[in-house]
Amino acid sequence: MYHNIHPESFMMTHGYQSKLSEGALKTPIFQTSTFVFNSAAEGKRFFEIAYGLSTPEKDEEMGLIYSRLNNPNLEILESRLCLWDQAEDAAVFESGMSAISTVMLEFMKPGDLLLYSRPVYGGTDHFINHFLQKLDIASVGFSPEDNKEQIIEKIKASGRAHKLALIHIETPANPTNALIDIEMCADIKRMFSTEEQEVILSVDNTYMGPIWQHPLNHGADLVLYSATKYIGGHSDVIAGACLGAKPLMARVKGLRTFMGNMAAPFTAWLLLRSLETLKVRMDQQARNAEKVADFLQNHPKVEKVYYLGNIPTHGSERDKTIYAKQYKSAGAMIAFDIKGGEQEAFAFLDNLKLIKLAVSLGGTESLAEHPYTMTHADVPQAIKNTMHITDKLVRLSIGVEHYDDTIADIEQALNFC
Ligand SMILES: *Cc1c(COP(=O)(O)O)cnc(C)c1O
Repeated sequence: MYHNIHPESFMMTHGYQSKLSEGALKTPIFQTSTFVFNSAAEGKRFFEIAYGLSTPEKDEEMGLIYSRLNNPNLEILESRLCLWDQAEDAAVFESGMSAISTVMLEFMKPGDLLLYSRPVYGGTDHFINHFLQKLDIASVGFSPEDNKEQIIEKIKASGRAHKLALIHIETPANPTNALIDIEMCADIKRMFSTEEQEVILSVDNTYMGPIWQHPLNHGADLVLYSATKYIGGHSDVIAGACLGAKPLMARVKGLRTFMGNMAAPFTAWLLLRSLETLKVRMDQQARNAEKVADFLQNHPKVEKVYYLGNIPTHGSERDKTIYAKQYKSAGAMIAFDIKGGEQEAFAFLDNLKLIKLAVSLGGTESLAEHPYTMTHADVPQAIKNTMHITDKLVRLSIGVEHYDDTIADIEQALNFC
């Protein structure tokens, strides 16, 4: 029966047993800090496994100890998240940033080198360039336009090529949907891995995941999410996740235990509820985005549309190849250049009625923002230039409203530009 069941069919039930919770159909919220052991011997055994002092027997699971280490809501959520990415294990966090920063701290140490794609999420960029720098962890950024040889040159020019420890990328890049080849990054990872140190490749899959892109299948070691976005999907919770093979995840969960930045039971419960509709939401959002992109493409006040759906017909050969192997959908994120500059972009944003002017993305409601002065305000000017992040760029996250209404709102707002 299990051979071809789709993940969405498991989102209501997987990992939860009603008989352990008074028959409750839905997972209760396990709002408890600690768990009662049946015997002292059981408590001893749970700790042996938790601290790796003893290897578990086949089918022996880690018993419930204390909610910083494990909790049913977190474990059920983690087991469901694994299904989408076909990952061995997952860890959920209280924010996307805590997932990202925990991975960076676990897999790098002072003296190491980080390679990352630019632009990355503003919080990630700040963590790399301000906090990690204080720990003497150097970084080299590359742009989606760089080819493999250019990236290798940059690593060598850093003087720390032999200390490369982590490659962290975001694809498609926010806000213009530029693509990065995950397999190319996996090649670079292998090239710089040594007997003593395997380079880890992590992919922030917030923009497309977990439905439309599966980085682990293309050679990534870890997938990261801001679950605040599509996974949560209702703009009412901040959360994060990291997925990968068990040995790496044991390290991630180990540091999470000591940083104490695991998701709370209620956060996990909200995400369990969100996961039930993840596929239908994202599919509808992608269908709506296609209609909105079509409309924008033909509008006289719009200069250029950055939308993955354009790649198969208008993309470069390189982008066509990456798109075909990495993506199952064009997604629901669109950016466009309005004719003019900040004044026209702001007039558009200020006159939207249905679509809200707010940062964040992936929720049921459509949102619009101005990357140049908002989400990407902190990105160095040179990177903004190469990434087409200018004052005429507007970013849209398309929600589940009827596309006729979203388009009508965009149309009336464009009249003010
Ligand atoms: C929002 C976001 C983050 C940060 O996640 P939080 O849940 O806000 O901490 C990281 N990466 C990407 C791509 C994001 O969009």
